[in-house]
Amino acid sequence: MTFLAELQALLGADQVLTGGDTDSYTLDWRGRYRGRALAVVRPDSAESVAAVVRLCARHGVPVVPQGGNTGLCGGATPADDGKAVVLSLARLNRVRAIDTDNDTITVEAGCILQAVQQAAEQAGRLFPLSLAAEGSCTIGGNLATNAGGTQVLRYGNTRDLTLGLEVVTPDGEVWHGLRGLRKDNTGYDLRDVYIGSEGTLGIITAATLKLFPLPVARCTALLAVPDVEAGVRLLGRARQGFGAALTGFELMAGNCLQAVVRLFPQQRLPFSGESAQSPWFALLELSDSESEAHARERFETVLGEAIEAGLATDAAIAENITQSRALWHLRESIPLAEAELGKSIKHDVSLPISRIADFVRTTNALLQQNFPGVGHVIFGHLGDGNLHYNVTRAAGQEEAALLARQPHIYGVVHDSVHAHGGSISAEHGVGQLKIDELPRYKDPVELALMRRIKKALDPAGIMNPGKVVRP
Ligand code: FAD
Ligand code: ZN
Repeated sequence: MTFLAELQALLGADQVLTGGDTDSYTLDWRGRYRGRALAVVRPDSAESVAAVVRLCARHGVPVVPQGGNTGLCGGATPADDGKAVVLSLARLNRVRAIDTDNDTITVEAGCILQAVQQAAEQAGRLFPLSLAAEGSCTIGGNLATNAGGTQVLRYGNTRDLTLGLEVVTPDGEVWHGLRGLRKDNTGYDLRDVYIGSEGTLGIITAATLKLFPLPVARCTALLAVPDVEAGVRLLGRARQGFGAALTGFELMAGNCLQAVVRLFPQQRLPFSGESAQSPWFALLELSDSESEAHARERFETVLGEAIEAGLATDAAIAENITQSRALWHLRESIPLAEAELGKSIKHDVSLPISRIADFVRTTNALLQQNFPGVGHVIFGHLGDGNLHYNVTRAAGQEEAALLARQPHIYGVVHDSVHAHGGSISAEHGVGQLKIDELPRYKDPVELALMRRIKKALDPAGIMNPGKVVRP
């Protein structure tokens, strides 16, 4: 039997896609990478994932795991040699269990993030991972990239929200590690090895995740902020005033939100005049466990003091849930507005919060020196020291001309990140986009250890080759 016929015998012919049917699986979300696949397979259980992996291992066929295909560094896109199988987890989409006494939910890897949030809410709990792609990204992809999002400040990133995993290894065995334990010191933590491994060490088929109490009240505000220094001081003030109740703190350059309201006219800034033209904005959220009135009073006091101290020039506090959603919608529309404006060179960086203002000032200046006229689209999760620092084309510059400069622009920005003690990927991962950037900045011993882990767990090198580390 041929390899394809064996796949069909395992999964049924309708779950093995070939030719043009694979097109939407071989192009990444940003349209930066177009690969080719021998086939796209859609198993619906951990056992059938394992059977596919065993078959691929026997034939030496590379396997590229894919969830919602919203990743931003080409991690889920196969190479263009057409030799790999894309393994879609989309049909592993069951909620296996909710345990409200243990505050855990066990879900399969192909569950859409939003569906997990909703299942938790129906059980009277909060699953706090939240990002703009939540309507299409999957838990498996969130785990494989250790996704962050907008509530990391309070609840941590995907790693911090995960207690147990079920994983299919590169030789097709199933590791049943769905433990709902908050304490477990029985040796190496393989869960942490798989989280953030971007499909290069195995395939995550299910996870046991932490749940939290639903907040009783939420307050959201958009503030006009004069500069990044003021933004950083505002964050400090908000942390002091709200403690753990501060669940979101986003900083956005004025041009980001101004582009959103220009491109999506149904959206509006809650400001007019000078405040609407503010060079920076901050979006704050407080989640309170007492009452609406308590939340509101705390919120207004601290924001009032911040304005008096000159940390913000104006504030719009959402009056109700609709207004709060509208403020978040502004923030979440930035990547979409960016996509409308053409391809950009994205940097997803983290820095010590104390060095962010200096990083933005010096890196902006370096870019203008080296690439006069390029645009800056800067926004991110200031509370986590994470900036999306993106570079757009200069007026009149062709998209291709900007993209051709990617290695040089990367060099300038990533060298500056490194000099400021930061990381070149805070959220999106390495994938194929940054695989050759990593050796420039990773500690050589650390990189060598990563290669040894890859070799130990995937000696044949069939799991998502060409991503994260080269052999
Ligand atoms: P995919 O794109 O399908 O895959 C991503 C990587 O994980 C690939 O390397 C793939 O091989 C691997 N993978 C997928 N599933 C599995 C599995 N089950 N087992 C093993 N490996 C697997 N990220 C953030 O961290 N924070 C944000 O705020 C954020 N905002 C975003 C906003 C938008 C509009 C978009 C498009 C993306 C955003 N992202 C953000 C990127 C983020 O990485 C993804 O949205 C999400 O985490 C990826 O999930 P996915 O299911 O789409 O994974
Ligand atoms: Zn982000």
